[in-house]
Amino acid sequence: MKLPYAEPYRIKTVEMIRRSTPEERKTWIREAKYNLFNLKSDAVFIDLLTDSGTNAMSDKQWAEIMTGDESYAGARSYFKLKERVEEILGIPYFLPTHQGRAAENVLFSALLKEGDIVPGNAHFDTTKGHIEFRKAKAVDCTIDEAFDTTVSHPFKGNIDLDKLEKVLKSYDREQIPLVILTVTCNSAGGQPVSMKNIRDTAALCRRYNIPLFFDAARFAENAYFIKVREEGYNKKTIKEIVREMFSHVDGFTMSAKKDAIANIGGMVGFRDEELKKKVSVFSIMFEGYLTYGGLAGRDLGALAQGLDESTEFDYLESRIGQVAYLGEQCKKRGVPVQEPFGGHAIFVDAKRFFPHIPQTEYIAQLLAVELYIEGGVRGVEIGTLLADRDPETGKDRYPKLELLRLAIPRRVYTNNHMDYTATALGNVFERRESIKKGLKIVNQAPILRHFTVELERL
Ligand SMILES: *Cc1c(COP(=O)(O)O)cnc(C)c1O
Repeated sequence: MKLPYAEPYRIKTVEMIRRSTPEERKTWIREAKYNLFNLKSDAVFIDLLTDSGTNAMSDKQWAEIMTGDESYAGARSYFKLKERVEEILGIPYFLPTHQGRAAENVLFSALLKEGDIVPGNAHFDTTKGHIEFRKAKAVDCTIDEAFDTTVSHPFKGNIDLDKLEKVLKSYDREQIPLVILTVTCNSAGGQPVSMKNIRDTAALCRRYNIPLFFDAARFAENAYFIKVREEGYNKKTIKEIVREMFSHVDGFTMSAKKDAIANIGGMVGFRDEELKKKVSVFSIMFEGYLTYGGLAGRDLGALAQGLDESTEFDYLESRIGQVAYLGEQCKKRGVPVQEPFGGHAIFVDAKRFFPHIPQTEYIAQLLAVELYIEGGVRGVEIGTLLADRDPETGKDRYPKLELLRLAIPRRVYTNNHMDYTATALGNVFERRESIKKGLKIVNQAPILRHFTVELERL
């Protein structure tokens, strides 16, 4: 019998978490105005709000925290990170930043101007935010398969090359400062991009003389999917695949709070020294000196170590295996989930969960609330609240997919926690018909309302 995967680590330190009662949770969620962002984390038993910055660091990463060099300039920890970026990503120049959106901020400050166009497979919200903030336009050239939860496609994060070429043809070269491939594609549910798609996108960009960048938050999870799903990569190591992925791009932005298994940090990387110099001005202005970029020396060291650990197959197999395990356990209980499962989260389809409640009643948020009351599990709505209102009409925009996202922090929970979560969700599913009404908004901010919105039960 083939041996199953198992976590390539054992647990040295534990953090106690408290199980509350449904009665307590009913009170807390009412006091939180049915917005899970308003809950104290102590009121949460299993926190699947995000996989960002919630990772468990290794003993070697903690050792970096102790041995970090806090010199203002030229710190040892910086050079350790520089070495790893060269060795693992094959990228010669980089600037540290305090997180991913800060990397976007410094890069776009140098590259974007009003009226510019930035095509990509599907931009992440902060990326889109930083593009639109500069009165430029983010254009998603997502493949159609990504929007259909019933279609099985191994690389739903791929960019549609025909759509991309149409955009490249329609504007002047000067108007398109870069193309961005997000790996894995967060906005499409953590779906991967194939090496072929990366290669073809790079060739197309070269033909139009436009730089190609990765938004590389989950580059290692993407490499894992290439290894197990794409022909010709089965025998290659993750580190070889990562090197090949990055060999096709001119640079990258990265949130180190995801695949670098750190709690804070980010980077922007370049192949071209001139571009690095141009961006450095903004790094110094917004982030700090070039060798620390808004981070402590110890954070740089932890990040460097994390890059090495996250690009190992055994780690990725257990990481992505755990996400799939939760997906399978949900399916077993009849809970409608999006497939194929992504790399970092499971998405529950609220329209199929609550077919008897209209989308106008914020059904994915309702599902998040019910799951919290049932088991103290915190997920996040990816639906109408997040989609917000049309800036012109002020009316709610109804996205095609109304989802509850359960994001799994790296190396934090065991499969017992996954069983618990799936059981709680299964219990809500069993009593779904007794839930007759959704929620209504009583208070909301002008933009990014989902963080602070206040709701009531109808
Ligand atoms: C998280 C994320 C970002 C932003 O990074 P922060 O560290 O949260 O600022 C950008 N792109 C993608 C794909 C992400 O997942």
